[in-house]
Amino acid sequence: MKQAAIGVGSNLGDSVRICRDVFHLLRNHPALGIVKTSSLYRTSPVGSDAGGWFINGAVLIETLLEPLALLDLMLDIERSFGRVRTIKWGPRTLDLDILFYGDSQIDLPRLKAPHPLMSERLFVLMPLAEIAPDWVHPQTGRSVRQMLALLLQTDHGQQIQKLEK
Ligand code: ATP
Ligand code: CA
Ligand code: CA
Repeated sequence: MKQAAIGVGSNLGDSVRICRDVFHLLRNHPALGIVKTSSLYRTSPVGSDAGGWFINGAVLIETLLEPLALLDLMLDIERSFGRVRTIKWGPRTLDLDILFYGDSQIDLPRLKAPHPLMSERLFVLMPLAEIAPDWVHPQTGRSVRQMLALLLQTDHGQQIQKLEK
């Protein structure tokens, strides 16, 4: 079994409902073992075409799926929630990113892991710190907790607000 983390985001439709439904689906998915879910957060959009505020969360999973099979499962789930790909970083009903896959370093056209932008994104690190604070980035040697602390010290300009459960 490998441990992996998934970043969940939505800014189109009933985003809170969609993220909760995704948590439920992942918890009950036959290809996944123990699943831990974070709180949900309301976050300011990063990038000019992103549209309205996002709902973000993170999920820690255990799986026997290989990385690309896990990616295909995530893309299937996105489609099942009606995601249509238009402009890059545009509004989306659901975005599921592989944040890390064990301590593997993957650099394929379809899959980069750990996710290249994770250390710059508050909407990734805040929820991830709830469920995997001690996971260590294989390139920098920094834990999620350390990455979050470092980002919070910078002029990150991102707003984030935890939602009630
Ligand atoms: P960002 O990666 O900056 O968060 P995005 O999530 O908006 O951007 P998408 O349009 O959702 O980007 O995805 C484009 C492609 O990125 C996917 O089809 C997938 O093949 C590729 N990809 C590369 N690395 C990953 C990863 N770690 N998780 C998910 N998709 C990835
Ligand atoms: Ca993304
Ligand atoms: Ca994505």
